Amino acid sequence: MDTDVLVIGAGPTGLMLANQLARRGVRALIVDRHAGPALETRALGVQARTLEIYAHLGIVERALELGKRATGANMWARGRRAAWLPLGDIGRGQSPYPFLLILGQDDNEQLLGEALRDQGVTVAWSTELVGLAQRPDRVIARLKQPDGATREVSAAWVAGCDGARSAVRDLNGIAFHGAPYEHVFFVADTQMTGPMVPDELNVYLWREGFHLFFPMRGTDHWRVVGIVPPALRGREDLTLDALMPSIRQEAGSGLSLQGCSWFSTYRIHHRRAERFRDRRCFLLGDAAHIHSPVGAQGMNTGLQDAYNLGWKLALVIAGDGREALLDSYESERIPVAQRLLATTDRAFSLVVSDSGVAGLFRTRLAPRLFALALRLPRVQRIAFRTISQTGIAYPNSPLSETLPGLPAAAPRAGDRFPWLRLKLSPDGPAEDLFGKIDDTRFTLILIGQPAPPGGLPLGDRLRVLVVPGDPPNDRELERARIPRTAFYLLRPDGHVGLAGVRLEGAAVARYVSERI
Ligand SMILES: Cc1cc2nc3c(=O)[nH]c(=O)nc-3n(C[C@H](O)[C@H](O)[C@H](O)COP(=O)(O)OP(=O)(O)OC[C@H]3O[C@@H](n4cnc5c(N)ncnc54)[C@H](O)[C@@H]3O)c2cc1C
Repeated sequence: MDTDVLVIGAGPTGLMLANQLARRGVRALIVDRHAGPALETRALGVQARTLEIYAHLGIVERALELGKRATGANMWARGRRAAWLPLGDIGRGQSPYPFLLILGQDDNEQLLGEALRDQGVTVAWSTELVGLAQRPDRVIARLKQPDGATREVSAAWVAGCDGARSAVRDLNGIAFHGAPYEHVFFVADTQMTGPMVPDELNVYLWREGFHLFFPMRGTDHWRVVGIVPPALRGREDLTLDALMPSIRQEAGSGLSLQGCSWFSTYRIHHRRAERFRDRRCFLLGDAAHIHSPVGAQGMNTGLQDAYNLGWKLALVIAGDGREALLDSYESERIPVAQRLLATTDRAFSLVVSDSGVAGLFRTRLAPRLFALALRLPRVQRIAFRTISQTGIAYPNSPLSETLPGLPAAAPRAGDRFPWLRLKLSPDGPAEDLFGKIDDTRFTLILIGQPAPPGGLPLGDRLRVLVVPGDPPNDRELERARIPRTAFYLLRPDGHVGLAGVRLEGAAVARYVSERI
């Protein structure tokens, strides 16, 4: 066998997977048909859940330094600023990163690439997957190399992180059902001055669509995204200059364009692969699902597909997990993709609908409605949980088991365990629980009880954290609706595998032998 895992594609998804495998000592080969990393910004929003994963990977500080926190969104309609939505710290108490970070895909890829190099793994660029044959115990992949010659590589597993036109998907004959939207998008990285509120999101809503201005690093540097007006659709040679009159119409005649470093138009599709696994091959990221960019979910979802699969592959390759564990990748991530497609589809239809009613809603009702709703703490909480991806849960996964007795409102198996600040020793300070979790291992959190006698399974793959009874701890647990006696077995990706009230001796061992 040449390698344990062959990762096809070094976009954000492939880089994240290769990192997760390298951290767990798995032999992986990562290839990409391009000559080097992509230089375009493309995706811009980094969600809180991704930042939590970046923290474990050691790149969150750098990401925060390079990016801009989205502090607020200004909604403009009919030439006036119609509303301001507070976005900074909208998820306070829910994540160590309670905001959306604006950081381009190119920067994300660079940080992920550096982290990978630090672990001694380099991407084989100009290397393209051109053929693939699945055998019972391996996959034989044909790779076209930089000199044009083809070589065969045998791998135990292949991860298709090769984007919307995935060769891994096509070579396995997996259908990619869905359709394109009729609208054509444009995206431009610009130097502009105008009425935009600096350092904040500026959303221009108009009867036929919208323009979004994202603040980028540097002064007067804006990423502008919008839909191409019907009259200009279908033009092959479209430039930003041709679009400026329609942008000025909404953003005001004071808008002045000083430069444009990247301009592209693209049609958006909404599609999902029929399966995310075919025997020894997996699909992740855009290879598995594509949808409208509304909500800045695309890149983040791919990164989290990789985070979900990485620890499972590592356990199976090490002989510490059953092969069936790998089926849970698909059973957990297909529902996530399905929900994402449905919600982005609904939101996108509203945002771009040409109907007069939708136009009125966009320009007159929506700004005020959003601003009012976002003042309510409950709406803030739900909005943050949904958009930040911290609310993603796998309640129906074969890996999720909640034992009887846990109150209905308490976190349950499948949930991402909530972010808490707890005292882990009676005299110690309150600490960030996520900082205490090692995401290359399982974590058993014991609340109001000691470790059961007779030892625990998983050897050094398990860490135990005992939360002592203490007034600040009790308050923090109450906030998360966790009873004073409870236990939670967290998987390496921070989701709850097994949850219950009092931990009986063999419960963890049984869970591990039956489900892992
Ligand atoms: C113009 C544009 C703007 C976008 N804006 C946003 C946005 O604002 N927000 C958002 O969330 N998302 C946005 N997206 C989507 C976002 O860029 C994707 O969701 C993200 O790139 C997915 O990452 P990925 O790693 O799964 O796939 P990709 O980034 O597509 O990476 C796939 C990699 O696989 C390589 N590859 C392909 N085939 C092969 C092969 N046969 N052999 C070897 N290598 C191969 C490719 O060279 C590529 O490097 C945008 C996309 C585009 C095109």
